[in-house]
Amino acid sequence: MINSKSIAHLWQSLSSIKLAAACICLFILSGCIYTDEPMPKITYDYNTQVASPKFSKPIPKPQNFPADWKRHVKSGKKWTAIVIHHSGTKNGNSAIFDKWHREGNHWEGVGYDFVIGNGTDSRDGKVEVTFRWRKQKTGAHCGGTPGNWANREAVGICLVGNFNNTVPSSQQMQSLAALINFLHSDYGIPKNRIYGHGTTPGCNTDCPGRNFPMAKLKSMLNF
Ligand SMILES: [Zn+2]
Repeated sequence: MINSKSIAHLWQSLSSIKLAAACICLFILSGCIYTDEPMPKITYDYNTQVASPKFSKPIPKPQNFPADWKRHVKSGKKWTAIVIHHSGTKNGNSAIFDKWHREGNHWEGVGYDFVIGNGTDSRDGKVEVTFRWRKQKTGAHCGGTPGNWANREAVGICLVGNFNNTVPSSQQMQSLAALINFLHSDYGIPKNRIYGHGTTPGCNTDCPGRNFPMAKLKSMLNF
């Protein structure tokens, strides 16, 4: 007697046979396809020296530098270094430092070429260009170096803040990196000629503060 259980059993057996037949066919077919295929020969020439890849210097991304960073006077002055300062104050801007340096020090005006704001008296990260840079004048920011070389040859950049107590804001660091990228593109000033005031040869001061992140700054540059 054929009941539903035996039909199911029969169907299962047939399925197994079909599967086995399909496997055999595939096996034969694959043999037909690949048996006569020649194996590719791999040869090694130990005499051939493989040149190590040369990594050329990455090309700096073009940046749209602000027009007022560019020299207004074609003085032909050769800037060979950068000296970074902090103001040592909580707040300030170019005009405030200009007044201090004129009235307090009897200088011609603010001693720096650029002042980077911290959001107190100018926008956080705002780069102010002073008359020193516009007129390509000798600076008054890093005295005491042999032959006054730093004031004559180094671009003076002051970040507003006291980095013995705080750290520069990320906006200040971004602006400083962009400004140094510009100075590098124009004058070819290398990384090892970027100094903090206190590490400038011939200087002894804690400026630009114990917390100023010089290594981080150098890692942010595109050269
Ligand atoms: Zn300084």
